[in-house]
Amino acid sequence: MSLGERSIEELRRELDSGSLGPRELAEDCLRRAHESQPRLGAFQELVEFAPDAGIAGPLHGIPFATKANIAALDARLDCESAILAGYRAPYEATVHRRLREAGAVCLGRTRMDEFAMGSSGERATSGETANPWREDRVPGGSSSGSAAAVGAGIVPFALGSDTGGSIRQPAAFCGCVGLKPTYGRVSRYGLVAFASSFDQVGPITRGVRDAALVFSVLAGLDPRDASTRGEAVEDPLEGIEEGPRGLRVGVPTKLLREVVDPRPLAEMQRVLTLLEDQGAEIVELELPLSRHALACYAVIANAEASSNLARFDGVRFGRRAEGEDLESVLHRTRSEGFGEEVKLRILLGSFVLCAGYRGRYLQRAQRLREGLRQETREALGRCEVLAWPTAPHTAFRRGERLQDPLEMYRSDALTVQANLTGHPAIAIPTGLDDEGLPFSLQLTGRELDERGLLRAARAVEKLCALDRSALRDPWWMR
Ligand code: GLN
Repeated sequence: MSLGERSIEELRRELDSGSLGPRELAEDCLRRAHESQPRLGAFQELVEFAPDAGIAGPLHGIPFATKANIAALDARLDCESAILAGYRAPYEATVHRRLREAGAVCLGRTRMDEFAMGSSGERATSGETANPWREDRVPGGSSSGSAAAVGAGIVPFALGSDTGGSIRQPAAFCGCVGLKPTYGRVSRYGLVAFASSFDQVGPITRGVRDAALVFSVLAGLDPRDASTRGEAVEDPLEGIEEGPRGLRVGVPTKLLREVVDPRPLAEMQRVLTLLEDQGAEIVELELPLSRHALACYAVIANAEASSNLARFDGVRFGRRAEGEDLESVLHRTRSEGFGEEVKLRILLGSFVLCAGYRGRYLQRAQRLREGLRQETREALGRCEVLAWPTAPHTAFRRGERLQDPLEMYRSDALTVQANLTGHPAIAIPTGLDDEGLPFSLQLTGRELDERGLLRAARAVEKLCALDRSALRDPWWMR
């Protein structure tokens, strides 16, 4: 077993006992990263030498990778977009600083869909990422490289960002745990904005306990991000083994029958039955507004994206294309700099922001968002967590959805809700389908109750540990 396949907790014990050195660990992970790169393509940039682990802290000597939209001092921060080619961050994201201060060691930056817009890892300027389980499948997106690197056992954890599902959906496709914390729990300072009222940074790991550990390092008030919350972060590992007895799990069965493919639906039923056998109570719920979540997301997230991306014009930010006058500089810079999907989103966002259409789209979507918040809060008054498959299907074929944006967006149908409402949500692998692809269950928790959410997730994980033996001799190492 390669070192990167072990959990943070296992590595921690070995590092503490001295049987493993931080440099040896970092070099082993880097070697595997280099070997996997030609075929798996998880990284856009790797460090050249194993860095010395400096500070002693809860993650002392633990290697990780970071998504290409999170600033690390002097590191590439191009969000996989031509418009930011060559840009290196002159500052450090708070999440990165916190990890560094906890002793974690960054080994590289992972590929993503351009500006975090996508669900397949096929829209990166530095190249595509594949799914570690099957060469012909996408890893999901947009935190594609982070999920592939962790799923493949190259690093024990990676950072992702989640605006509409970009931590959870790729974690699901790659057989990882992915946690999107409550909106405001984790600082966005140094995360390149996509849709500011949705964006949240979180960990991708292979196990729930590791997710809890990394979350506890990331979370907390940040004076540099006014949207962060001041509430205390309770130790999420405390009580995490308590088990599902008495846990009420809400399931919007009717909605799920409409949107989820038969196999993931059956898998979810299997897991719910296991939970019930262990003393959990399954609560049938109706979430009538949730079937409109994707449309609501498309309007508001794109509106925010179009204004956030306005700063990349070759004058204030971004690589400049030459032109005769200001107008042509702006036009050429943005035409050449942005990829197709990003342009599509900017157009849609600008459209719904137009004075004449505001009432028809944006204001209605905002009312719907408020309704969704209410609906979710009420549902979470009747249970501690909501359960749904993370995605309506397992990892789809590469190339299959590139020409069909609506099909591509369908894969976010069940993840956008938690971003619209701000609730924390987690993806947990539960098993493999008959093609050898991971299934994933998503749990949504109460606001700021990551501890309760992680406890429930740990109960699921213990009931259905994923068989990773297919990755012993993986296709990307052959
Ligand atoms: N896949 C979704 C989208 O394309 C979510 C993206 C994200 O969470 N960054 O918008």
